[in-house]
Amino acid sequence: MLIRILGAAAGGGFPQWNCSCRNCADVRAGKPGFRARTQCSLAVSANGTDWVLLNATPDLRQQINDTPELGARPDGGLRNSPIKAAVLTGGDIDFIAGLLNLRELQPFTVYGSLRVLKTLAENSVFNVLDASVVPRREVKLGAATRIEGAGVDITGAERDTGLVVEAFAVPGKIALYLESGAAGDNYGSREGDAIGLKVSAPATGKSFFYVPACAMVDDELAARLKGAPLVFFDGTLYTDDEMIRQGLMKKTGQRMGHISISGPEGSIAALEPLGVTRKIYVHINNSNPVLDDTSPERRATEAAGWEVGFDGMEIRL
Ligand SMILES: [Zn+2]
Repeated sequence: MLIRILGAAAGGGFPQWNCSCRNCADVRAGKPGFRARTQCSLAVSANGTDWVLLNATPDLRQQINDTPELGARPDGGLRNSPIKAAVLTGGDIDFIAGLLNLRELQPFTVYGSLRVLKTLAENSVFNVLDASVVPRREVKLGAATRIEGAGVDITGAERDTGLVVEAFAVPGKIALYLESGAAGDNYGSREGDAIGLKVSAPATGKSFFYVPACAMVDDELAARLKGAPLVFFDGTLYTDDEMIRQGLMKKTGQRMGHISISGPEGSIAALEPLGVTRKIYVHINNSNPVLDDTSPERRATEAAGWEVGFDGMEIRL
């Protein structure tokens, strides 16, 4: 199985277009130790030929152009694409807007939870993806779903990509309609908006986890990740109040549904006892000091056995 990080940044990317925080200013200025990152997405292939996107970000066109394996092949006919399917882990703009880049009557299959499919159905702009060419399929939580890709010809005949995903709910942010305070401090409520994926290639028995948004690691999630060979995990913030301290936003990470990297409640501490072989942060917000290769926070993160994901990073399982 081949896994490529298409984008390792959180929503807004790095730098974010309208942000002049220290990190964004430094990466924009080309300061050594900083590299730009696009918004969070992975591409996965079981056979090296057919690719499945995990989320479709607003940066998808750039990500495809930066990844030769995802471009149309010279020997594939006038119109072709190795992208056979897209699996969506949420209905946020960061995760779905890239579908609009995949118009032009090219067959592929969209997978998402019922909530995500409902979001697509309620926004008529997504009708640009004709359902007879780009079918939408439900991914049921807690069940294994075989990912079928659209065929290479215009008949849209489907074929197995060799990948199976299991979607599972993870603790996420409080529903917007509850933010007025009715739910008190219950920001970690599990309500199905935040989804993680276990991606497997049955032919080889290899698998990994992709959890780009997660408010906390509860017992259920810890049990799931225990002993995993590879986990891509929510690295949005280093500390819970970092966006407040930098004057960027009034919300804590917890309030936005994102666990911090550091601290006794953070993801380094939470995954430490789980025996995960390889741990990689993705969905990294532009305020996060680990984006500076030379920062003490970056050194601490790596010393704790984590890698900081970057665009173009490739992992072979
Ligand atoms: Zn910034």
